[in-house]
Amino acid sequence: MRAHVPSYELIAPRELPHALSMLGEGFRPIAGGTDVMVLFEAGKLEHKRWMSIRGIAELRYIDITADHVTLGALTTYTDVRFSAILADEFPLMAQAAALTGGIATQNRGTIGGNIVNASPAADTPPALLVYDAEVELSSLKGSRWVPYTQFHKGYKLMDLASDELLTAIRLPRRFGGWKHFYRKVGTRRAQAISKVCFAGLKRGDEVRIALGSVAPIPLFLESPDLSAISPIDDIRSTSRYRMQVAKNIMEDFLRAS
Ligand SMILES: Cc1cc2nc3c(=O)[nH]c(=O)nc-3n(C[C@H](O)[C@H](O)[C@H](O)COP(=O)(O)OP(=O)(O)OC[C@H]3O[C@@H](n4cnc5c(N)ncnc54)[C@H](O)[C@@H]3O)c2cc1C
Repeated sequence: MRAHVPSYELIAPRELPHALSMLGEGFRPIAGGTDVMVLFEAGKLEHKRWMSIRGIAELRYIDITADHVTLGALTTYTDVRFSAILADEFPLMAQAAALTGGIATQNRGTIGGNIVNASPAADTPPALLVYDAEVELSSLKGSRWVPYTQFHKGYKLMDLASDELLTAIRLPRRFGGWKHFYRKVGTRRAQAISKVCFAGLKRGDEVRIALGSVAPIPLFLESPDLSAISPIDDIRSTSRYRMQVAKNIMEDFLRAS
């Protein structure tokens, strides 16, 4: 059943401080809306006070310094796909973006939204984990940076207070000499939610590995040991299939030169 539109409130602040103050009034952010509007259309969006942050220009940028590439939370998949520095130094981000939904979703969907929607099947989190990303969380009290490996605490549970907005994602520029490997397995080549998603970096004997869709949160591993993964049966796949696919991709990754 579709949602009853008049029972919702929507505001659209243009300035970050205004948006942060409205979080305290119980408004929740909508960025691209590509997750939120699916719930809305299905009549399953229980929260009623929403704030579009899409018009806050200062949250959409890709900034390059000597040590980091920083993405504003509103950076879209399309922005990622067309960024030369990301293609060059963080190609798993570009690959994850290119494999996300279709063009319309890539034009609207944001990296901040992908992170905070916190689906275990989301496609950018494995790339962000292997690249040792940090996320910036901002409130009226100030900002803090949290290592992305520490951000997801359990299924849809995050180190994010109700008065905080995710404002940026920072990638350290130190993976230039590594081999980069990304694999998404879904029902189709396009417009498919991952059954298993894998990002890996390799340099000599060192590996950095992350998987999606195999645990309640995107999982980071510092060795090829898959004992930490606990895939579930759901409408998209079975636990047994996911486990086997994860093993197969791991083997491909370890063999890749
Ligand atoms: C057709 C279709 C195909 C899709 N395919 C894929 C796919 O292949 N892979 C994939 O991973 N996802 C996919 N998605 C899901 C979705 O597009 C992504 O998760 C997207 O990145 C969400 O970003 P958004 O800006 O649209 O988030 P929104 O829908 O605006 O928000 C999602 C959640 O994040 C919160 N939020 C958003 N921004 C912030 C912020 N800055 N700070 C705090 N909270 C915030 C919102 O309150 C909400 O809870 C698909 C969706 C659709 C409709």
